[in-house]
Amino acid sequence: MAEFTMELNDEQKEVRDWLHGFAADVIRPAAAEWDEREETPWPVIQEAAKIGIYSLDFYAQQYFDPTGLGIPMAMEELFWGDAGIALSLVGTGLAAVGVLANGTEEQIGTWVPQMYGDPNDVKVAAFCSSEPDAGSDVASMRTRAVYDEARDEWVINGTKTWATNGGIASVHVVVAVVDPELGSKGHASFIVPPGTPGLAQGQKFKKHGIRASHTAEVILDHVRVPGSCLLGGKEKLDERLARAREKVKAGGERVRNAAMATFEASRPAVGAMAVGTARAAYEVALDYAGTREQFGRPIIDNQGVAFQLADMRTQIDAARLLVWRASWMAVNGKPFTAAEGSMSKLFASETAKKVTAGAIQILGGNGYTREYPVERMHRDAAIYTIFEGTSEIQRLVIARTLSGMPIR
Ligand SMILES: Cc1cc2nc3c(=O)[nH]c(=O)nc-3n(C[C@H](O)[C@H](O)[C@H](O)COP(=O)(O)OP(=O)(O)OC[C@H]3O[C@@H](n4cnc5c(N)ncnc54)[C@H](O)[C@@H]3O)c2cc1C
Repeated sequence: MAEFTMELNDEQKEVRDWLHGFAADVIRPAAAEWDEREETPWPVIQEAAKIGIYSLDFYAQQYFDPTGLGIPMAMEELFWGDAGIALSLVGTGLAAVGVLANGTEEQIGTWVPQMYGDPNDVKVAAFCSSEPDAGSDVASMRTRAVYDEARDEWVINGTKTWATNGGIASVHVVVAVVDPELGSKGHASFIVPPGTPGLAQGQKFKKHGIRASHTAEVILDHVRVPGSCLLGGKEKLDERLARAREKVKAGGERVRNAAMATFEASRPAVGAMAVGTARAAYEVALDYAGTREQFGRPIIDNQGVAFQLADMRTQIDAARLLVWRASWMAVNGKPFTAAEGSMSKLFASETAKKVTAGAIQILGGNGYTREYPVERMHRDAAIYTIFEGTSEIQRLVIARTLSGMPIR
């Protein structure tokens, strides 16, 4: 187990500086254009692929970093550059984690490289769980996967929504119901390989922020995938379902707790994205406050402005500490006895919204225009309190974990 540390080691500092350079030189200058275009920034992804930032190797290296700081450090730097473009760069990684966490070695080796493609022909991947009637309430998922034993194939039907890279992905990872009696424990994840008939993109959403990231519905109409596309394999699924049925009989509480542990480990990464956006807006505001003069002096000379900046920086540093603690706990298998993963995501995402709003205020009229980046950062920041579990759901999880009560 790695000791918890707040100090990046030399290797991590080198990676951080490399990422920061890419974020400053390539991502940030492209941010306004791709925000306006509301399209996936393929040329930026390609550039990132050429230098190894958009690759399985890079992502896996950070994911398995025993200090737990690899992923939050990478997320913070990329999202400091721009949230929409960064989500286009890491969206594939989020789908890959679904395979890394649940897939067999063979499945990982077959599908994860296809998710990224290669630098001359980059691909993206999508993770499809949310549905029109199953957002926060994952257990009410309706997309159904039925096993066709004669052909050793699964047949998937349903509608997914809000899928990052949905419909434009090479590989889609789709969560579906295999046993409706078991709630979220009756779900399983499937690979839908590139070009599989029956999978189509539905509506592409026009969004408030992170507009360089593609978000769409995914329609699954009698999609047939080979038995080998069930992540983890049939034997493991059957064992897991049998265990879940036993636990339901014994009282469902432990079932829910097991599902929650997975989210605790993934939520700090979203917290780190929020820290990146918040830090970016704070830096713009600090710089502006030091140079903009009114009443014959820089506006930062006013306590009213300086104190806002002091609060912003305090909240950003506190958010980062919560994120790093939870990431370290996840990598080192520490139990989340106070839902520390949800705590980090809750605090960091709320901080990003507050800090970006404060940055607009400090820039005055300029902050309200698209000539300055804080307006975009504020729109982008709103996503962090919504995806990967809303703030209200984080509070529910924390409150339930602390109290042991089924709070509604
Ligand atoms: C840009 C974007 C990208 C996304 N990417 C993906 C993706 O790649 N893959 C994927 O599967 N999903 C993705 N999502 C979906 C996202 O995770 C959901 O939007 C989120 O979980 C919330 O679900 P919902 O939108 O249905 O809101 P709802 O669940 O309908 O919630 C609406 C409101 O009610 C509140 N609420 C609901 N239940 C409770 C409760 N019990 N107590 C208190 N308040 C409650 C919520 O907090 C929220 O404020 C994405 C969403 C967006 C917007």
